[in-house]
Formats: sequence, structure tokens, C-alpha cells
Amino acid sequence: MRTATTKAEVRAAVAEARRAGKRIALVPTMGYLHEGHLSLLDRARAGADWVAMSIFVNPLQFGPTEDLSRYPRDLERDLRLAGGRGTDLVFTPPVEEMYSAGEQKVFVLPDASLEDHLDGASRPGHFRGVLTVVAKLFGIFAPDLAVFGQKDLQQALLIRRMVADLDMPLEIDVAPIVRESDGLAMSSRNVYLSAEERARALALSRAVEACRARFAAGETDGDALRAVVRSALDVPGVEVDYAEVVDPATLDAVKVAAPGSVCAVAARMGRTRLIDNAILGA
Ligand code: AMP
Repeated sequence: MRTATTKAEVRAAVAEARRAGKRIALVPTMGYLHEGHLSLLDRARAGADWVAMSIFVNPLQFGPTEDLSRYPRDLERDLRLAGGRGTDLVFTPPVEEMYSAGEQKVFVLPDASLEDHLDGASRPGHFRGVLTVVAKLFGIFAPDLAVFGQKDLQQALLIRRMVADLDMPLEIDVAPIVRESDGLAMSSRNVYLSAEERARALALSRAVEACRARFAAGETDGDALRAVVRSALDVPGVEVDYAEVVDPATLDAVKVAAPGSVCAVAARMGRTRLIDNAILGA
């Protein structure tokens, strides 16, 4: 497995793979890898011949009071894990390589109709940061395929829309959520949780699962389903950010849920904010 810290090294490696006729896949991440990230590498490998991962904790997508400075990092372990999944190249740029001297004057902005929901509503500017860095990574790699996780539902939707609306010539694949054996969605941020918070955090996966089960049992009323979710999240020490059942294309709250509607939750346990979701009828 090769590693690169500069855009020039990436471009040279990609050009070489292209000359060999390979189809290129990219898996963008912020590192501190877990099985969820590695499942994206497996899907990338299934859909391409040459697989790259980027590991970059993108300052642009963190708010001023968020966890940028303490975001977990372990590059040595990440390289071992990515190598174990047959990754061809890992790109780990320093911040100055991505944003030279803070000189980024053009950004990718989502329309308010898709931003002002869920995480976009709670984290102003977050998706501007995400879309801008992902557009840059697409510019650096020019991949044929990029793989993202359903765990970040709104992110996946906005990236699909960016690619469609800005006519970017690549395919986007979105992979299912990988969970711990007790149901907790895997996240790099789970490492922040104390034992008590880890136990409380199970309320998120229980809430989306309860919603899915109630829908499967025949309940389609949006408010009734949201009440199921809120009640499952009503746990001491769990501060709910949102508890929604939304349309998967518009992210508007549904009056009547249908197969494909999404139950999405975010909550804080102490200082740690986690998200989870489930597709109803899936
Ligand atoms: P992150 O490093 O948190 O920015 O995540 C990088 C990519 O991995 C994103 O596309 C996420 O949606 C995806 N991802 C994160 N957690 C999971 C998970 N538990 N299962 C599947 N994909 C995930």
C-alpha cells in the first residue's frame, strides 16, 4: 500500500493506475477507522480495480465550539487497517496542503431547502465544509466511484445532489450502517464515551429500531412514529437534538410514512454528539 501527503503524489499515482486501465474508487474519511469505514473499502473494491482512502480531519466542517482539536487520531493503526483491506493508496494531507495558507475563496454551498434540516440545522456551515472538501477530493482523485455511509444520511444525500447538480462525472455508492453487536452504530466519536454514556447511547439505535418495528407492524402516521422515537430517547443523560421521520429526498418531516422514509436521530451524551438512522421498510 502506498501513502501520499501531497496532491501531486496522488495525481501521479492515479495517472499510473489509469494508464494501466484501472477503474478508480475513493473512500473519503476523517480516520480513526472502524469496521464501518472498512466496509466502505470492501464496497469500493467490489466496484473498482484501484482503491484509495483519504484520511483528513477537515477543519472547514467543524463549528467553533465543536470537537476539531480533540477529534481522535491514530494514523499508524489506520494505515495498518486500510492495508489489511487491500487499499492501494492512502492520502493523508496536512491541512496546509488542502487549504494553502487559509486561501480558500470558493466553497460549495447546499441549497437551504436541503441544508436546514437535521444535522444542517444543528451544525451551521457543516455541509458547506463537507461538500467543499469532498469536491476538492473529487478534483484531486478524479475517481470513477466514491463510497459513503448511510450513517451520515444528509451528507450522502447532499453529495449525490452535488454530483448530479454540478455534473461531476462519477458514481456515488452509499453503504449500510455497520453496528456494534449491541446495536450501537460504529463511530469514531464512540471513543469519547464513558461506560455510563456508552450504555445510554444505546437509546439511539433502540429508538430507530423501535420506529422501524412500529412501521413494519403497520403504523404509518408520522407523528405517531416520531412519538415512538422520542419515547425511546427519553433516557436520563440523553439530550435529544432531533428525532425525526423524514422523506429521503427532501428531508421534510413526513405526515404519512412510506417504505423508504427515514427515521433519523441525534443526541448528546455529555459532550459527545452521536447520530443514527434507519430506512423504514428496508
Ligand atoms: P467519517 O470518518 O466519520 O467522516 O466517516 C467517513 C465515511 O464513513 C462516511 O461516508 C461515513 O458515513 C462512513 N461511516 C461512518 N460510520 C459508519 C458506519 N458505522 N457504518 C458505515 N459507514 C460509516
